[in-house]
Amino acid sequence: NRIITTELVEEDIHIETSLRPKLLDEYIGQQKAKDNIKVFIQAAKFREEPLDHVLFYGPPGLGKTTLANIIGHEMGVNIKVTSGPAIEKPGDMAAILNNLQENDILFIDEIHRLNRQVEEVMYPAMEDYVIDILVGKGPSARSIRLDLPKFTLIGATTRMGLLSSPLRDRFGVIHKLEFYNNDELTEIVNRSAKVLEVEIDNQGAKEIARRSRGTPRLANRLLKRVRDFAQVKYDGIITLEVAQYALDLLDVDASGLDKNDIKILKTMIEKYNGGPVGLDTIAATIGEESDTIEEVYEPYLMQLGFINRTPRGRMVTPYCYKHLGYVVKEE
Ligand code: ADP
Repeated sequence: NRIITTELVEEDIHIETSLRPKLLDEYIGQQKAKDNIKVFIQAAKFREEPLDHVLFYGPPGLGKTTLANIIGHEMGVNIKVTSGPAIEKPGDMAAILNNLQENDILFIDEIHRLNRQVEEVMYPAMEDYVIDILVGKGPSARSIRLDLPKFTLIGATTRMGLLSSPLRDRFGVIHKLEFYNNDELTEIVNRSAKVLEVEIDNQGAKEIARRSRGTPRLANRLLKRVRDFAQVKYDGIITLEVAQYALDLLDVDASGLDKNDIKILKTMIEKYNGGPVGLDTIAATIGEESDTIEEVYEPYLMQLGFINRTPRGRMVTPYCYKHLGYVVKEE
């Protein structure tokens, strides 16, 4: 297991709940999304209507679930949480929808993984707050229409491209979450340290932020790991020295890259002359799933400007050659 995976892992579960901001004003960064959400929450409250359906997309750990919870909190409504793969049958979805209260939020994580039949239940539910259910079998089967309470669907996905267009088109508001910059992450690390009652200086917070791949989930996880080192090997205070020592030992380099990232980049450079090379070829060469590379590794490597996507495949940039100490290849 990579320490820098941005997916939720067992060790995060407890800490994530305690560190999750509850109000929009405590939510750091993503200014554009926040400004918009503020306006549409106010408008919905003013009209005493449920919010429009909202879709958040972007890499794991950037705060989609957190935002959904914040919206519930700010609207003063219940939020029911589920995920695409958890709902197997149309009947399961119908039951969930039917149990909602007026104005409730239904949050569906990994919404791109809903199966087709379940997804079709969502269309009339989202548009007209109704579901059609089939009763009886064979020739006497008939469809009856059930009214639902007015609700808001908040969907989250890491793979916008896998979402069907009929589903996508039924969201009134769509927001892309961006990677966080170092200042925002430093603020998140400082805030989390306060909640966890860990002493940290600004250089220490900055160092953790810099190696967190633009991702709050990872910033929090690294903070927790560095805290352990600070308590066991130092006097409990996280300074630049402690952060560097701990993160080096954990094999997270100064840009937040680990051995697997380096392996991908070196493979592309040494075996494929820097590309263009197809995702499946890279995956097969290093023995990793293409999906994992696309979802987990690649977004951050692109964010750093190390990899470009071209119609003919992925390419390593001259900037990355330099960073890894290679001679920049001739064009
Ligand atoms: P996602 O649903 O996008 O995978 P989460 O909402 O679960 O990500 O966020 C992961 C963790 O990161 C949360 O528990 C929260 O503590 C932290 N986090 C995310 N976004 C922010 C933010 N903008 N400000 C402060 N903490 C954040």
